[in-house]
Amino acid sequence: MSLAIGVDIGGTKIAGALVREGVVLERARVETPAEDVDAIAEAVVDVLDQLQGAAGDQEVVGAGIACAGFVDREGETILFSPNLAWRDEPLRARLAERTDLPVRLENDANAAAWGEFRHGAGREHRTMTLITVGTGIGGGVVDDGHLLRGSSGIAAEIGHLRVVRDGLRCGCGNRGCWEQYASGSALVREARELVRSGTPMAGRLVEACGGDPERLEGTDVTRLAEEGDPAAEELLHELGVWLGEGAASLAAVLDPGAIVIGGGVSAAGDLLVQPAQRAFRRQLTGRGHRPWPDVLLASLGNDAGVIGAATIMSDRARGR
Ligand SMILES: [Zn+2]
Repeated sequence: MSLAIGVDIGGTKIAGALVREGVVLERARVETPAEDVDAIAEAVVDVLDQLQGAAGDQEVVGAGIACAGFVDREGETILFSPNLAWRDEPLRARLAERTDLPVRLENDANAAAWGEFRHGAGREHRTMTLITVGTGIGGGVVDDGHLLRGSSGIAAEIGHLRVVRDGLRCGCGNRGCWEQYASGSALVREARELVRSGTPMAGRLVEACGGDPERLEGTDVTRLAEEGDPAAEELLHELGVWLGEGAASLAAVLDPGAIVIGGGVSAAGDLLVQPAQRAFRRQLTGRGHRPWPDVLLASLGNDAGVIGAATIMSDRARGR
């Protein structure tokens, strides 16, 4: 059973793991020097060295590097990253100078999708769509056992599907993108608005932030909803409806066997997924004349990216 390394380069931290068959054996973690591309490469090499050291004399078949940005089809270059300094950054070549491991770059949501597909919630399916709900919305699509990369490597940027004409302005510059309505940022925005409205309904939310809506976070909303606060439940319910309806649109195009919901906000569990499932079923085209795709919670949590990135390398090593 082959060992591989997965590294997930996020905006604030670089997380690495030594992985065998979807199981994390060792971890390494450093801060991301976000503004300096040379320093990012150094930090990744540091993580690779630590994990290779942990592997001792066991063979490591390669390192998959999950990156928060647009990665080209070949896994060589990061074309663009919204939160890091990468612009046409040839990170694979830079790393190859410093390590003897085979290295490949992968978009972080694609890596997470591969992790959930091979070892997580989607493992019973051949065709699966992952929706990661965090600050924004990311996604990854597996079709008949293959990761959908598109012509330039940047397929599945599902957070930027337009769902509202002339809607809220998105970080991408457009208006009305799905992630403006169905992400963790949308949840926080709605919760803060509810507090500002002065409605007595928001009493517990006001308490949670000491009266200052700017201090309210998504985790506060989830916690209060878990404690049964109707306003917090309603906020998660609304978010779930946006998610479910968007997922139905994706299903119209992709016909997945499973839609897997991951990312930080999925920690809300059934409070989010049940309303999403109901909205999905109300909106799915051809309902009644097609199998129902499963709408499932992701099961690998924050490890989906490192497990997926490592598994891409071990699958390649065995010719999959
Ligand atoms: Zn957008």
